[in-house]
Amino acid sequence: MSNGVLFGDLIAAVCFILALKGLSAPRTARYGNWAGAAGAALAVIISLSTGHLQHVGLILLAVVIGAVIGVPAATRVKMTAMPQLVAIFNGVGGGAAAVVALVEFLTVAHNSSLISAGDQVATVFTILVGSVSFSGSMITFAKLQELMTTRPVVLPAGRWISSGVFAAAIVLGIVGVPVRSTGLLVVLMLVSLGLGVLFVLPVGGADVPIVISLLNAFTGLTVAASGYVLGNTLLIVAGTLVGASGTILTRLMAAAMGRPITGILFGAFRAQVGGPAAAAENRPVRSGTPEDIAILLGYARKVIIVPGYGLAVAQGQHTIRELADLLAARGVKVAYGIHPVAGRMPGHMNVLLAEANVPYEALLEMDEANSELSSADVALVVGANDVVNPAAKTTPGAPIYGMPIINVDQAAAVVFCKRSLRPGFAGIENELLYDPKTTLLFGDAKESLGKVVAAVKSL
Ligand code: NDP
Repeated sequence: MSNGVLFGDLIAAVCFILALKGLSAPRTARYGNWAGAAGAALAVIISLSTGHLQHVGLILLAVVIGAVIGVPAATRVKMTAMPQLVAIFNGVGGGAAAVVALVEFLTVAHNSSLISAGDQVATVFTILVGSVSFSGSMITFAKLQELMTTRPVVLPAGRWISSGVFAAAIVLGIVGVPVRSTGLLVVLMLVSLGLGVLFVLPVGGADVPIVISLLNAFTGLTVAASGYVLGNTLLIVAGTLVGASGTILTRLMAAAMGRPITGILFGAFRAQVGGPAAAAENRPVRSGTPEDIAILLGYARKVIIVPGYGLAVAQGQHTIRELADLLAARGVKVAYGIHPVAGRMPGHMNVLLAEANVPYEALLEMDEANSELSSADVALVVGANDVVNPAAKTTPGAPIYGMPIINVDQAAAVVFCKRSLRPGFAGIENELLYDPKTTLLFGDAKESLGKVVAAVKSL
């Protein structure tokens, strides 16, 4: 490998590290993204310019096809559908790494009599984990896109079937590689694809995005292993970074939901505590008009806004910002309480509010928000449900039991802005909706908040 290539690899690797650093804070995320893209572009240019490549025309054709599909998909995707997009892109990466490792191994196997044990292990690992990542990601995509049920699909004796399929994959790998059998390695790939499906089917509800993150980590490790097979340092570096960051993100998300990763993978959201919301809709609730809410907010001293998934669906971020500005101009102290898993992806609320130029200083992390809430006059919950649901503290067996929440019930008054009494993602009732201190402002968040804005202006 020439010094130029080594130097280029080093620069690209530094870009990837800077990307991760940048992406760790909302303020620097845009630069992080650019650094990552620059590193990837550099890596492609280095690979194309080494002169060892065959079929360059086909490679360029693949790049064009990928760009034609990927660019519009990434630019048009709605923020709420981002986890699906990540799932499908990630799965394709894992699948590609598995196929590349298979082809490379078979080429080397036919041209050389000696293949190191390390190469053999890396090949089996890449085919197995890359295929699991591919098919598992496709199932998570189908679940989040609601192309299939989002509930856990538990097959009879499913755990035994999965264990059997896993054992079969290992045996195929152990037998297939030393005898260099194309047929056996292709069967290994097919069995691993089945394993990925079995792995993800029992995961349901709000756990799916966590599994996407875990599969993302798998893809990273697959890419690192394929880098080993191909003798490509940059793939090893990039794959390890993705593997490590995906693992850390998976752990953080599981911790924010107060659930062990094993519980997510093997016992996800099966118990449904708290009957169907329809049964509860007959219970009395207190609802208010936008004018009522305007008076409550306009004469408060301190208001904490807690945004959730519904704010993103309604695209009400600009309206909430306008309301917050109006209240601040009236001397009301306003802050936003951000739960780490509000919305449908990590950092979802930060990104959403950044779109409306809400200053970062106004965003309180969950613990900070909780220490402010007992002195708040109003907690304004906009399109959030699970992240403020006290069942997380009071109802053992509830799917969200153990998840730290934003304690909006500590505020003197609570306002919920949502369209109905329907539950949130975890599918369980929220007793706080029926609490005497709660007022419901029914309707789409953007429309309702718009009316509240108008009413505050005329106070
Ligand atoms: P929820 O899904 O719990 O609740 C969202 C609420 O928004 C619903 O109750 C819905 O009520 C309301 N809503 C929907 N559309 C609108 C609209 N147009 N206008 C007003 N309200 C609307 O969201 P949360 O943010 O509270 O919780 C996130 C959930 O996602 C948690 O269960 C979390 O564990 C899960 N999750 C999040 C991840 C992340 O990284 N962020 C990852 C994994 C899981 P209605 O239909 O009555 O309007």
